[in-house]
Amino acid sequence: MSVVAASGEPLALAAYSPASQIRARVWTLDPAESVDEAFIARRIGRAAASRAAMFDAKHDAARLVHGESDGLPGIVVDRYANVVVMQLTSAGAERWRDAIVAALAALPGVAAVYERSDAEVRTLEGLAPRTGVASGALPADVTIVEDGIAYGVDPVGGQKTGFYLDQRDNRRLVRSLARGRRVLNVFCYTGGFTLAALAGGASRATSIDSSGDAVRQARANVARNASLDAARAEWIEADAFVDLRRLRNEAATFDLIVLDPPKFAPTAAHAERAARAYKDVNLLALKMLEPGGMLATFSCSGGVSAELFQKIVAGAAVDAKADVQIVRKLGASADHPVALGFPEGEYLKGLLLRRP
Ligand code: SAH
Repeated sequence: MSVVAASGEPLALAAYSPASQIRARVWTLDPAESVDEAFIARRIGRAAASRAAMFDAKHDAARLVHGESDGLPGIVVDRYANVVVMQLTSAGAERWRDAIVAALAALPGVAAVYERSDAEVRTLEGLAPRTGVASGALPADVTIVEDGIAYGVDPVGGQKTGFYLDQRDNRRLVRSLARGRRVLNVFCYTGGFTLAALAGGASRATSIDSSGDAVRQARANVARNASLDAARAEWIEADAFVDLRRLRNEAATFDLIVLDPPKFAPTAAHAERAARAYKDVNLLALKMLEPGGMLATFSCSGGVSAELFQKIVAGAAVDAKADVQIVRKLGASADHPVALGFPEGEYLKGLLLRRP
């Protein structure tokens, strides 16, 4: 549909979502451009090409399409070696599904397109979930390499599309800080930060996640990498809010802690409850952080701004009587760009803190 100013001047071409609070998602600001199969293929080709530098001998996975920020609202595409996983979350994306699948299948080296359109937000668009192979044949074992480390990815049953690609740079940062340190990785999922820490020379790595499937995959991921010492890794399947208290009561301490919790606040309406959860885990972590130690703490909640997140962590530090410094502000990797006109796209924020 076209979006027209009160004066009659054409503004944009947009996808109409009758069931959603977001009624229109802009495809193009050029009213002369037509939205068709060629348009979709062009936009997907442009987005994929902009990630070319992220693929090299040590990396074969990256996000190819990051929704609004790539001019493709409601479309997320992650590439895992020769498999691409797409997630469609808007009525407009759904309308062009066949064109999207065709464009993805035509990318060089793609053997399969798998659909994971089962995100919660689809219901807000009045769309039923859909998952399954959309093109080609899914290999029995999907393995990726990130920073030279191999990880198994489960596009069918894993969280999101199977792997948290947005943390690539931050896993590398943790790797660079890990030498000789006792590491605690809370909300470890399939072991991303743990394997990075082990590769960086951590003396021990303790990892916590409440998902048994994730912990199993994480252990298997260490085993996949002959260069990593599995004996240095301890895996705990537990609720982090409970287990961090147990560790604190046992007077455990760590030199490097990673906190990468799930989205506690999908929207601003959940911000208050989320703030309490963020404060709780950060407080517990800071109490267990040795002097000279570092904490990499994250929030992927759209409903919590970077400013609010920093305030929450500062509050936790006061309560923990920990006088910490911000060493660096962290965000998502380059394959998760943020369009200037879409600041909501900046969902992942993090702080690298140091306890002097
Ligand atoms: N850091 C990870 C991604 C973390 S995603 C990576 O680099 O891949 C958040 C994780 O938190 C998920 O694996 C989820 O299973 C886990 N989780 C959610 N609630 C939890 C809780 N209460 N206790 C422990 N883990 C939890």
